[in-house]
This record gives sequence, structure tokens and C-alpha cells, in this order.
Amino acid sequence: MTRVTGDWLTRDATQAVCAMLTEAGYQALLVGGCVRNALLGFPVDDIDIATDAVPERVVELAEAAGLKPVPTGIDHGTITVVADHIGHEITTFRRDVETFGRHATVAFSTDVREDAARRDFTMNALYAQADGTVIDPLGGLHDLHARRVRFVGDPVDRIREDYLRSLRFFRFSAWYGDPAQGMDAEGLAAIAAHLEGLGALSRERVGGELKKLLKAPDPAPAVGAMAQTGVLAALVPGAIATPLAPLVHLEGAWGLAPDPIRRLAALIGTDDAQDLRLSKAEMARLTALRDGATGTAGAAELGYRLGHDQAESALLLRAALFDTPPPPDARDAARRGAQSTFPVRARDLMPDLEGPELGARLTELEARWIASGFTLSKRQLLD
Ligand code: ATP
Ligand code: MG
Repeated sequence: MTRVTGDWLTRDATQAVCAMLTEAGYQALLVGGCVRNALLGFPVDDIDIATDAVPERVVELAEAAGLKPVPTGIDHGTITVVADHIGHEITTFRRDVETFGRHATVAFSTDVREDAARRDFTMNALYAQADGTVIDPLGGLHDLHARRVRFVGDPVDRIREDYLRSLRFFRFSAWYGDPAQGMDAEGLAAIAAHLEGLGALSRERVGGELKKLLKAPDPAPAVGAMAQTGVLAALVPGAIATPLAPLVHLEGAWGLAPDPIRRLAALIGTDDAQDLRLSKAEMARLTALRDGATGTAGAAELGYRLGHDQAESALLLRAALFDTPPPPDARDAARRGAQSTFPVRARDLMPDLEGPELGARLTELEARWIASGFTLSKRQLLD
């Protein structure tokens, strides 16, 4: 019998939320990412619990236990119960009755097998009791140990029910699949044959999924498969997958942590990114990286203009996009640039100059100073 453990499971909050259900005679099964990640040794962040108690009953039991129930997804049966400031998403067992793309009509169920059958991948249909005993209705453990991301049921049906699953397939393959084995061929074929629903996915979700995928240690094989199946072009017509693998390789050589925006900037330009509903800050970073990588500024100037970390990202991005290794002294130059401060201030030029003339003069002096390798002093510049 397989057991799972970890602080996420044994801590008081998790045990209290499960006990609230089991003491009233219901099942309380941890499910999805928490069980999967704990079995694989990955960190667990959110806690999902499946139960045969209907949502109204979950609310009653939570209130009786002095816990705070929040109806976060009441129409699909989810109540979030907050204990120790941690949200636990409790969802009543479901079986899908009818589906229209993303909008499944659901019926509640008391059978964990039915609940497992409506989940996306076998490794996401693993459950655990509060004592850690794993319940595996669909053989997900076997796939998990083989690092195989496989659809529950017929991939074609499952994709046509919900096209977001095509994206989730690539994301979970990148994180939990075995790159040596390649991705599940049947799943890939089904995805490639059913691209038609991808365009209707909300742009926020597409952007969100892409970022989560690109945060994986090495997303390049999965993104390559997205390109081959036609998914990448269906989502972002201008995207080009090929610079990603060299970028990931260079990141490893420089010891840079995965950064979804840096990686996204290897795949798409600023115009395509407009369409992914990135945050203002993310969009600004992507634009700065793309402009830095495709512009003419050297490593030192990039360091001065973008700061050290962004400059390193822009240098690797440039190397990946143009398929040329970064110059050997690039990192030192970027650091030097980041540490340099332009010695001339506006007030040094006043009152002789003002307004646009002042700005133009400052820009000109700054360019001269950068060209000198940051060596010209204020006196030399002003003379
Ligand atoms: P993570 O939270 O690390 O992204 P997760 O597996 O917990 O991974 P969630 O999106 O939190 O993913 O969903 C929780 C569980 O709900 C999944 O493990 C899966 O069983 C089920 N699930 C989520 N989205 C879908 C979907 N589109 N189709 C079918 N089942 C889904
Ligand atoms: Mg989750």
C-alpha cells in the first residue's frame, strides 16, 4: 500500500478540515496536485479535498467546527474552508453529465471512481486519506512512477470537453513527464487533430498557462511539441519555438533561475505579447528584454540601462535569438555598467540650457560617457 506524507498533510489545519468531514461520516480525500507533488517530492502549495458531502453540508459542518467557509466555486461544488490562514478547497465528488467546451454541467456523486473519471490526467486523479493512505482508482500511480502524463479516458473526448486540457497536457508534461521517454503519443495525436477549440479559450488563461509551463526547469521539449502539433501557432500565431532550447541551455551555464517572462521573450515579440493579458510589470519586462536583446547596445550599456539581472537576461536572449554565444566578457561588462552612475546632473547645465535643449544635451553627454566605457569624468564631459 502506498502512503504519502509531508507537513502539508500532518499539520493541524489539514487534519482539522478532514476531521470535520470524517467525524460526520463523510469521506475527506486529498486530491490532485498535493498528492501528486508529495509523491514526486515536489513542493505542495494548494490543498484540494474531495468529499461525498454536498456543498451545503460542507458549509454547515465548517460553521459548526468554527472554521470559515467561503463559497468560491459554488456552482461546481467548491467551498473553500480557511483554517490557520490556509485555504482548503473542498469539492464534492462530481460526474460530468454534459459539456459545452469549458462549461460542464455537473452532477454530484458519492463515488470516488466517478470523480476520478472526470479529472484530466491519471496522475492528477490520485487521492489520499488524512492518514496518508493513497487511493488510486485509475492506475495513476503507475503512470506517475513512469512519469507519464496520460489523459483519463479517451483523449479526443476529453479535449473536446475542455480545450484547456490540451494546454495542461503540455504544462504537466514539462513539469512531471520523463523527457527521455517523450510525451504520450496518443495524447499528442488527439491534441494535434483538435486545434479548433483553442481560439475560444480566454486570453488570460492562455497567458497564465504559458507562464506556468515556462516556469518548469526545462520547458523546451514541451514547447517544441506545442509547435509540432500546431498548438503554439493556434494560440500565438507569431510565436517561434526554436530559440527556447538554446536559451534554457545558456541559463544553465550562467546559473540563472527559470524566468517565464525571459523565456516568453524568446518565443514572442512585444506585439504578440499584447494579446496574452500580461500584467503591466510583466509587459514592461518583456519589452525591455526584447528591445535590449534586439538592439545595438553592448553588454555594459545594457547593464547601465536595465540593471544587472535584466541585462544578463537580455544578453542570453540575444544569444538565443541570434544563435551566437554571448561574448566571454559580457557578464563582467554588464556588472560594470550596472554599477556605474552617470556623473552629470541637469543642474550642472543650468541655467545656460533648459527645456528640450537641456534634455538633448544630457542625452548626448550620456552617450559620450557610455562610449568612453563609463570613464569620462564630469569635468571632462562638461569641458
Ligand atoms: P497545480 O495546482 O500544481 O497547478 P493541480 O493538479 O493541483 O496542479 P489544479 O488546477 O489546482 O491543478 O486542479 C486540481 C485538480 O483538479 C487537478 O489535479 C485535476 O484533478 C482537476 N482538474 C483541474 N483542471 C481540470 C480540467 N480542466 N479538467 C479536468 N480536471 C481538472
Ligand atoms: Mg492545485
